Amino acid sequence: MNGLKVIPLGGLGEIGMNCMVLEYEDEIVVVDCGLLFSDLDHFGVEFVIPDFTYLKERKDKIKGFLITHGHEDHIGALPLAIKAGLHAPIYASSFTTLLIREKLKEHGLEDRVEIRTFKPEQVLDFKHFKVKTASVNHSIVDSMAFLIQTPVGQVIHTGDFKIDPTPFFGDKINLDLFSKAGDLGVLLLMSDSTNVERHEHSMSEQVIYQKFEHLFAAAEGLTIVSMFASNLGRMGQVFDLARKLDKKIALAGRTMEQNIRLGMEAGYIKDAERQIIRLDDLEGYPRNQVIVLSTGSQGEPRSALTRIAQGEHGQIQLQSGDLVLMSSKFIPGNEKAIGRMINHLFKQGAEVLYEAVHDIHVSGHATRPELKEMLQCVRPKFFIPIHGEYRHLVHHAALAKEAGVAPENVLIANNGDVVELTPTSCRVTERLEETRVLVEGREGNDISKLVLKDRRQMGEKGVVFSLMVRNAESRRIIAGPEIICRGLTHESREGWVIEEAKKIVQKVISDYDLAVGNRGPEMDLQETIRVELRRFFNHNIGKKPVVLPIILDL
Ligand SMILES: [Zn+2]
Repeated sequence: MNGLKVIPLGGLGEIGMNCMVLEYEDEIVVVDCGLLFSDLDHFGVEFVIPDFTYLKERKDKIKGFLITHGHEDHIGALPLAIKAGLHAPIYASSFTTLLIREKLKEHGLEDRVEIRTFKPEQVLDFKHFKVKTASVNHSIVDSMAFLIQTPVGQVIHTGDFKIDPTPFFGDKINLDLFSKAGDLGVLLLMSDSTNVERHEHSMSEQVIYQKFEHLFAAAEGLTIVSMFASNLGRMGQVFDLARKLDKKIALAGRTMEQNIRLGMEAGYIKDAERQIIRLDDLEGYPRNQVIVLSTGSQGEPRSALTRIAQGEHGQIQLQSGDLVLMSSKFIPGNEKAIGRMINHLFKQGAEVLYEAVHDIHVSGHATRPELKEMLQCVRPKFFIPIHGEYRHLVHHAALAKEAGVAPENVLIANNGDVVELTPTSCRVTERLEETRVLVEGREGNDISKLVLKDRRQMGEKGVVFSLMVRNAESRRIIAGPEIICRGLTHESREGWVIEEAKKIVQKVISDYDLAVGNRGPEMDLQETIRVELRRFFNHNIGKKPVVLPIILDL
């Protein structure tokens, strides 16, 4: 029997760009297609996506993208996958469908692929795969796990999940479904590792309700609540409380407006029209009677909350007595930007509550006891931890052994590993070379490692141009050198540095002229100038800038 290939293209060793390929003979399905946000000021790289080369080479085999839920780290790379020519239908739950459709519209791709919306506990039939969808609890509604019958055995992909006995929308995750799968025998479990370091059972979304109620009721000024614009459950609670406390809601940020509209479309948020006021009308209401739902919980540079913090938001100016609730996790890498924003919010006179000082956020990911419960329900033969940084994968692997999976059957895989799964084995048989692509701009242009290296060097060490004009016939330098530098050294030293650098280049030119006059072998003028200037700068200012000698032949 042939093996099933399980290939993580992303999501292992990092939290982001989840993408898992399942391949059996002539058929491929891909679970999730997400992106990873880069550190906010990382030489222009805005995000990172999986390298699609493996899929591009097999694009006719791809029969579907199966999407677990609508977070960016699960759907964000879909437009780029489509642009790369991967045109298989996308399978998603109903709210996820709305988010994907919106995303494809933004990229003008809505007609390029079909989105097939599925329901919980529906079976999707492929040639070799039968995929059963199962609702799970998470920080976005309509999140799914996939229970996949394959020719080698049953494979379960949990997606992102937690076990919430009292979610705001929907029911508690149906663990029975997982237990029944376990009874029939599960060959491989792949499970979310994000919160494996936490020992306490995660708090229920309902906890937020009481905290918010208390804070909203006591508000003396404007209340601003920032959160991920995809967290409909949390937004639903804010709407519910506003109704109860007879307050109005204003929306700040484009994605917040968009997702509230989608939430209304999907029927999750009801009657919102009567509660929502326009930001322009804010002044017409007592300040403590309005709650603003805002984007920008990660300190993103142009987001609503960042602009409010910097006093640059046209419609919202903070005053003392105002309250800002940051109801989301600080994603690793964003802490500095968020910290700066919080400082500015305080400077504007507001009180700011955030995870470190007040419990106004609960995580959407299962902690150790819940992960163990999942393992004990499913009782898989093989286990691969997914969705986590490397240390999370290591801890989750240890937990699986504790929960009864045979130690030799637990595999910590890396992005790009080709895992071959048979009824009796699960091992890495091959490694893909490239696993990630750096992307800038909305168009999704990729940046090569060389470009990034140049940017880093220019950013850290500055750049120097050395210009001159050469007579094309006589090969002699007839004008120059001119030296221009940027970002090199303090202005007060610049004049001296340029004069000295000119002398260095003049010396090179006279050696060159001599060589030309003697009709000897022509020296590589550009390379010699580059080497000599870098040596000079290294000696005098302690660093080697990017040096670009330019010779114009006339
Ligand atoms: Zn998620």
